[in-house]
Amino acid sequence: MAVDSQLSSPLGPTACDKDSKALQFIEVMTRETGAVQERVLGEILIRNAETEYLRRFQLNGATDRDTFKSKVPVVTYEDLQPDIQRIANGDRSPIFSAHPISEFLTSSGTSAGERKLMPTIHEELDRRQLLYSLLMPVMNQYVSGLDKGKGLYFLFVKAETKTPGGLLARPVLTSYYRSEHFKTRPYDPYNVYTSPNEAILCADSFQSMYTQMLCGLLMREEVLRVGAVFASGLLRAIRFLQLHWQQLAHDISTGALNPKITDPSLRDCMSKIIKPNPELSKFITQECSGENWEGIITRVWPNTKYLDVIVTGAMAQYIPILEYYGGGLPLSCTMYASSECYFGLNLKPMSSPSEVSYTIMPNMCYCEFLPHEPDAPAVSRDSPPQLVDLADVEVGKQYELIITTYAGLCRYRVGDILQVTDFYNSAPQFRFIRRKNVLLSIDSDKTDEAELQKAIDNASALLKEFNTSVVEYMSYADTKSIPGHYVLYWELLVKDPANSPTHEVLNRCCLDMEESLNSVYRQSRVADNSIGPLEIRVLDNGTFEELMDYAISRGASINQYKVPRCVNSSPIVELLDSRVASVHFSPEPPQWNPEGRRC
Ligand code: AMP
Repeated sequence: MAVDSQLSSPLGPTACDKDSKALQFIEVMTRETGAVQERVLGEILIRNAETEYLRRFQLNGATDRDTFKSKVPVVTYEDLQPDIQRIANGDRSPIFSAHPISEFLTSSGTSAGERKLMPTIHEELDRRQLLYSLLMPVMNQYVSGLDKGKGLYFLFVKAETKTPGGLLARPVLTSYYRSEHFKTRPYDPYNVYTSPNEAILCADSFQSMYTQMLCGLLMREEVLRVGAVFASGLLRAIRFLQLHWQQLAHDISTGALNPKITDPSLRDCMSKIIKPNPELSKFITQECSGENWEGIITRVWPNTKYLDVIVTGAMAQYIPILEYYGGGLPLSCTMYASSECYFGLNLKPMSSPSEVSYTIMPNMCYCEFLPHEPDAPAVSRDSPPQLVDLADVEVGKQYELIITTYAGLCRYRVGDILQVTDFYNSAPQFRFIRRKNVLLSIDSDKTDEAELQKAIDNASALLKEFNTSVVEYMSYADTKSIPGHYVLYWELLVKDPANSPTHEVLNRCCLDMEESLNSVYRQSRVADNSIGPLEIRVLDNGTFEELMDYAISRGASINQYKVPRCVNSSPIVELLDSRVASVHFSPEPPQWNPEGRRC
């Protein structure tokens, strides 16, 4: 039954009491979008009236939208960084928020090569939990019987650090999974996971993945949905199964846990779950030893109804491979969130990836929208762009999301470009278009053009002694193998062919590029193994000219033609690949150190 018809009568017969309350909540929030947003802004401005940040703009206690908009500027992370640094260094005065800063959330966005640090307050955990609590009631409208089994979700915590002032800095999901909200969540038949908390909370990524996969295999008949937060995470789990099924099958056959699982609480917990099951072990061996992994998810977990992973935005590149392993299972994108704030959910979670729209819940933060017209001339300084409120955006238009949060971010540019597709009641629904300035992304890394250029400049310094330079380049996120990796197509000008750069030097260029990339990239390479070694493909001379001819033959203007720095169209990749003269890989992982933050 459609969400729309259910929601118009939220106390419908299929919805249990808890679901009805959640659906009714969505109903009320989305019917009163404008009023809820006004209330949210008022609450934020009242509570934070005495903060240093708001006092700077002389609001003088005003809590109305017009005064706020006329006095408080739209800002980026870089604008806030000096104040954020003060908090990181131990300043406990109310700079952004009247509530104490409980920790920093480390965003996958970077600034000057380091993760952004988002100050947060304890109460935000309640808001995150609230949004999570809406997901299953919406899903239950579309898929029945999800209380009759379990979810196999690959969930992980990542490295935590402390700032010089002693505050924890960690990713938002690590913060959530480690919170009492998650650890002591009450039993809910719709949210039973195969993974025990001990496995999710184990900081060693191998032990965590191994035991989560083992539990998933042991409970294979009970699994009704398989997921991870992002598509890249689920694919990493499949790759893990490819690499480790023999040991997993051995454990299942004998009932003895792999000695590489050394975490005592995890061993203890697994000893209660694992029992010898030779038949299951035989089945796993049979399924996993074959060459053909098409539909492996449906074969190993035959009762799976859908895959719960985000495949919008940068993750769309993984749709074909997920369809392959998932044997055509529906892909469900349920929510849209960030370290700064959790924004909203997909009210039609079984819609196909190209149709996914997220409804921003008006109670989460105060949202404004900067019209985004990629082809429009730059706006002059005299007429700053008019920001539009959540209830006033227009269908078909694109906007950049600007948020004001309870934790104290004011008119903060998130950097996401969204397009309005429709309204649910008076709440707009948005298609995620893209993150601004992101050229390459494999996992949670986001590399922009300037970073890539800098990395190439640094690496190509090695070529100087060979009288060689990089004349043109293009990049490509290669996700055909798991983990995916960055590919750089280089065309070189070798002035002295008798002394051209050696294979080793070009391998070294790969590593130097990696060393220059941001800390999220390097962490994914070193700690998470979610990105493979960077590759340089040196092209035959003249390839980029050929590429320009190709673009012009397809209608590009000869005067305005610029080499696109990132390629994702297969004909172009095919053309480039057919002109590759040599291939080079990074010989070792780059440096990464969890404590390496410059703060
Ligand atoms: P982080 O800063 O690491 O918390 O990452 C948050 C960012 O991830 C968002 O601002 C988006 O760019 C992206 N993101 C989060 N949820 C989705 C989604 N459902 N679809 C596409 N991109 C998303």
